[in-house]
Amino acid sequence: MTVKTHILWDIDGTLIRNSRDGAAVYLDAFTRVTGAPPHRLIATPHGKTEGQLLAEMLELNGHPTTMLDDVLTELDRRTQALHDTGFVREAVAGGPNALHEVARRGWSNALLTGNGPLHSRIKLLAAGYSEQDFDWQSSFFGDRSPDRHHLTALVAPALGEGIHVIVGDTPNDGLAADSAALPFIAVATGAFTVADLRDTNALLVVDDLVNGLDDVLGTIAELSTRG
Ligand SMILES: [Mg+2]
Repeated sequence: MTVKTHILWDIDGTLIRNSRDGAAVYLDAFTRVTGAPPHRLIATPHGKTEGQLLAEMLELNGHPTTMLDDVLTELDRRTQALHDTGFVREAVAGGPNALHEVARRGWSNALLTGNGPLHSRIKLLAAGYSEQDFDWQSSFFGDRSPDRHHLTALVAPALGEGIHVIVGDTPNDGLAADSAALPFIAVATGAFTVADLRDTNALLVVDDLVNGLDDVLGTIAELSTRG
């Protein structure tokens, strides 16, 4: 019996490289909606959802979190505008090939990300991925999620039985996988080292998707045969 297997990829630091320029749209959107740049910033943004980050930034700077919807709308507008100017992002080494190898084995590539759907699409396209690389219907987007736990809790009800593996680059991805009892594979291509990620419950921690690809595929294969 074949088990439906979904690989739920994180985006930032996992499929694409983090970039300072790319992060500036959050500040720009915040400034536009509230009328002033934030005087206090979030110290540890990695692995947080957009909804969480922006709500925390509003609170920290004395604004009502009811402004979140407006900031998110502005964020989409600015992301699109940035993309239209030809802003390019960088895929992580081995990322496109990893998606290819996953698909070749009959497993589904999907997303579980703190980004909203439009932001996700635009980021991935700007890094050279294509829309058809992903099963968007089986993906989870965190622009309106209070945190990643909220997102991982949606996985089993939405995707049903099968193997659903989280691949991410932060301890937060691991904690969110744990709270929904989903297997987690960590890649150290974001803000955290292999040693940091070994402190999570990850089944496997790899340096990157080049040297680590065989191990990643092997671990998923084991999970899907075990069912
Ligand atoms: Mg990430």
